[in-house]
Amino acid sequence: MDRNAPERADLVIRNARLIDGTGAPSMRGDLAVTGDRITAMGDLSRTRGAAEVDADGRAVSPGFIDSHTHDDRALLADPLMRCKISQGVTTVIAGNCGVSLAPLVTDRRPPPPLDLVAAEPGQFFADFRDYLGALDRDPPALNAICQVGHSSLRVGAMDSLDRPATAAEIRLMRGRLEKALEAGACGLSTGLFYRPANAAPTEEIVELARALAPAGAIHTTHMRDETDHVADSLEETFAIGKAAGVRVVISHHKCAGKQNFGRSRETLAMIGRARAEQPIGLDAYPYVAGSTVLDPERFMGASRVLITWSEAHPDAAGRDLADIAAEWGCDWAEAAARLRPAGAIYFMMDEADVRRILAYPHTMIGSDGLPHDTHPHPRLWGTFPRVLGHYVREVGLFSLEEAVRRMTGLTAGQFGLKDRGVLRPGAYADLVLFDPGRIADRSTFEQPMTPAAGIDLVMVNGRAVWRDGTATGERPGRAIRLQELARPSSAPA
Ligand code: ZN
Repeated sequence: MDRNAPERADLVIRNARLIDGTGAPSMRGDLAVTGDRITAMGDLSRTRGAAEVDADGRAVSPGFIDSHTHDDRALLADPLMRCKISQGVTTVIAGNCGVSLAPLVTDRRPPPPLDLVAAEPGQFFADFRDYLGALDRDPPALNAICQVGHSSLRVGAMDSLDRPATAAEIRLMRGRLEKALEAGACGLSTGLFYRPANAAPTEEIVELARALAPAGAIHTTHMRDETDHVADSLEETFAIGKAAGVRVVISHHKCAGKQNFGRSRETLAMIGRARAEQPIGLDAYPYVAGSTVLDPERFMGASRVLITWSEAHPDAAGRDLADIAAEWGCDWAEAAARLRPAGAIYFMMDEADVRRILAYPHTMIGSDGLPHDTHPHPRLWGTFPRVLGHYVREVGLFSLEEAVRRMTGLTAGQFGLKDRGVLRPGAYADLVLFDPGRIADRSTFEQPMTPAAGIDLVMVNGRAVWRDGTATGERPGRAIRLQELARPSSAPA
């Protein structure tokens, strides 16, 4: 019995397997919540809760932090965010791969891949402060921290994107970035692979990233190449981090294309060597297929391509590109050109690489889900339960405690989230109650929008947002500002 335990709490969860998010062994005990915080843990038999839940041995962990999302507009358009809260996600990091809703003024449909997040000019915000203000006024069910996208900056500052930015354009972009950081943006993302940013030389990114270190912000990158030149892209990423003196996160790390299968041995060794000299993080999703816009010239060595949406042929969503091409009597490139603007799923990775990257001790779990797709990649609804069900329970890739750490404490540390990603008195009550024996992803490539099994209760800032298979309708999420984050240390690791 804990003599320091409070007499009363808003909620007591009893008989839980408490997994604290640090990777430490779980402990049997109770947990109390009052207001938006955890107030006590341990033997709370003397504490009376206004509400009580018997976990009956099920697990309670910190709410999962989705380290890599494109939820920027979904947070406003679909604030209940069922695709994420149904997985136990309580905080998302938005603005990835160079794409953000702000700051950008445009009078036309933005180029791909910006249209994955917003296709109408009116859906963008000129001022990052207004974007965060919109989230404050009409809050989502979960918390968010949001980055500025380099491609969004380029679209707003340049008349043509197929060249390096001029010194004047870099000054304009950097001024807008600095203003967004002041408003609370947490970092700068790039999508150097994509056409709007592909012509940007390394020095352009370094010039912009130099604004990050003084503000205590982070840099994330969808690298220039994840196929044959993945090693060169890692070197470029390390060089940008070093030159700008900033923490870098490598987004959705992969080695794509059959000829690159097995190269995660080489890439993880490179990351390991670089980590000894500078702060570098990485994230990954637990699937051998990726998803992005459909580009007739870039299939990234995929063995199979599934259409996720098409403006020209909406009925193609969910169909195989090979079948469509056969039906139309043309090749993949011609079919893709006719389907555009469109998105697709690409089967392009090796299961052994996926496992090796997931098992690397510094890899965070990030869904990279695309919430506006008609027939999305199943990662949008399945990433976190797939790691806990398939990769922990069925494959035995790592322990449950270690898996939870990669979705909570590790991620909170990388992004500087204070008092989140951990179970301890005083921390925010972002919580998941789940059954380790039953948790499973149920979203598939055929039926991608199916909620997971085994997630019984999800709380954000002390309020239940998901209970027994449905959203409660509560929207206690917060748009967390850079100024509320811990400054990332510039030391290695
Ligand atoms: Zn990306």
